[in-house]
Amino acid sequence: MSVYKILVVEDSRAFRNYLNVQLTQAGFDPVFAETIAQAREILSVQKDFLCTVLDYCLPDGQDGEIIDLVLSQNLKVIVLTAQFSTQIRDTVLSKGVIDYLLKDSPASVAYLIPLLQRLEANSQHKTMVVEDSATVRHHLVNLLRRQNLEVIEACHGQEAIAQLEQHPDISLIITDHDMPEKDGITMVREIRQQYSRNQLAILGLSGSNDDAMTALFLKAGANDFLKKPFNQEELYCRIHHILSMKDTADKLYRMANQDALTGLWNRRYFFNQSCSQDRCEFRNIAMLDIDFFKKVNDTYGHDAGDEVLVQVSQQLQQHFPDDIVARFGGEEFCIQSCGNFELFTSRLETLRQTIEDLNIIYQGSSLNVTISIGTVSGNQSLSDLLKAADAYLYRAKQSGRNQVQVAQSI
Ligand code: GH3
Ligand code: MG
Ligand code: MG
Ligand code: MG
Repeated sequence: MSVYKILVVEDSRAFRNYLNVQLTQAGFDPVFAETIAQAREILSVQKDFLCTVLDYCLPDGQDGEIIDLVLSQNLKVIVLTAQFSTQIRDTVLSKGVIDYLLKDSPASVAYLIPLLQRLEANSQHKTMVVEDSATVRHHLVNLLRRQNLEVIEACHGQEAIAQLEQHPDISLIITDHDMPEKDGITMVREIRQQYSRNQLAILGLSGSNDDAMTALFLKAGANDFLKKPFNQEELYCRIHHILSMKDTADKLYRMANQDALTGLWNRRYFFNQSCSQDRCEFRNIAMLDIDFFKKVNDTYGHDAGDEVLVQVSQQLQQHFPDDIVARFGGEEFCIQSCGNFELFTSRLETLRQTIEDLNIIYQGSSLNVTISIGTVSGNQSLSDLLKAADAYLYRAKQSGRNQVQVAQSI
């Protein structure tokens, strides 16, 4: 993982030291300047900062001059100020900064690190703004881009649904209600038939004075609601909250469904996939097992064995990128796939050959392993197909290993 650089412009040494500790502990790489002149020098040679943290009052500019300099370089800005005034707040927010923090207590600065972590995590999120008013839409798009979010636009619910088909990886939708073609609440109801709240978060917006609007949006399946007009801070707080919840839910899902060593799906996930019901009548199942794997552990140690598991898993994923590849336990794997069975078995044969030829380098030694595979295709239940594939895997082992045994019919 790359380490993100943060430019900090702050004249108080004590505060610089404090931020240095906080930022470094959180895994960021802080770069410090004490004055506008120093900041200008740094910016003339490096600009790859995730964000900048700027003291409002500096020796060579007491009135936020540093903010204009840094914004003119298209960088993201969080402002630190010693005292709060509505006027400073309005001025800095209208310039286009992400947020401002008061230097008055450790608690308010403690807010900085989660804010930066959010910016970092936001680069993984694709969002969509659905709004018929071009002015409001552009305003929202600007606010979201400032937060490091990728943004797609739609003018009404119908267009949004079409966009979602093109971009199924959208993780957050911010939507108006009153729109031509299809209104926001109807759109949310339709989307919820396919995407859960954890898969795709939705923030409803409306300028309507109807008190029932909040409840209608939430009951249709929105994660949260915001009344127009909203201010930037309010919007950002809601988005941070929604995306943090989503990231936590995603993490829990991965922990429950992925194998920690190889990153492949686990048994639990595999059994929850009902590909035959949804996508195809027949499915192909392959059971794979590394040959004489115990010998790898016995000869080179358990860590070498782990490395073999990781590299074999990578090959499986590369050869079957569109299928469900799971580690079933130990050195045993399973692939579930739809489509032509002959094509599937020929890809299994290619995989077997690739692994036979693969040199796995571990601490200077080159290791080689082979795999045995049993495969079947049919419209029977998943557990029947697995049993049959396992019997063919056993046959592959009995017949000398390093081979694919294909069931003609089961
Ligand atoms: P066969 O060709 O008949 O499959 O022989 P094998 O040695 O591969 O099979 P066996 O079932 O006897 O041994 C599997 C070994 O896999 C035993 C176990 O210690 C090892 N193993 C299971 N999980 C892990 C793991 O996560 N890491 C490592 N390094 N070894 C593991
Ligand atoms: Mg509207
Ligand atoms: Mg084995
Ligand atoms: Mg085994």
